Amino acid sequence: MGLAYAVNVKRILVSSCLLGRPVRYDGRAKPVEDALLDRWRAEGRIVPVCPEVAGGLGVPRPPAEIVHAGSGDPGEAVLDGTARILTDAGDDVTDAFVRGAHRALATARQWNAVVALLKEGSPSCGTHRVHDGTFTGAARPGTGVTAALLRRNGLHVLGEHQLAEVREHLI
Ligand code: SF4
Repeated sequence: MGLAYAVNVKRILVSSCLLGRPVRYDGRAKPVEDALLDRWRAEGRIVPVCPEVAGGLGVPRPPAEIVHAGSGDPGEAVLDGTARILTDAGDDVTDAFVRGAHRALATARQWNAVVALLKEGSPSCGTHRVHDGTFTGAARPGTGVTAALLRRNGLHVLGEHQLAEVREHLI
């Protein structure tokens, strides 16, 4: 049986846009080129996920940000029901984002992903920073809703600039 089908292989959940899939709100990708990714791909360790598409949102879609998150972590606040996710037109898309986060978690569990490599800045995938809810391009520290849910459930959650650190969690 090849490595790609071994059930106990530790895998990496990766934001689809980092893998070159054009799933971002603007219909684009944010591909990362790295020999490590190529190796993990060949080993069958990569599990792509776009939480927003998994949650039922289309491509392209309106930009959305976590608003009214207070001083706590934005992604955690959404999971706790104390912050919402709105589009730039004011439409509430919180339910779709939370649904997508749970589908990403289910995918991680299905494929034994123990670490997540996610796109920074996104209200779903942001790992160290997200937009601050003002739609001005400004950022604030904290996680997006998927990053927060994965971390709550024991995954090691890393941003796209921490690719080398992924290896520590595959041993
Ligand atoms: S939700 Fe995550 S995977 Fe999907 S486009 Fe946004 S950053 Fe990329």
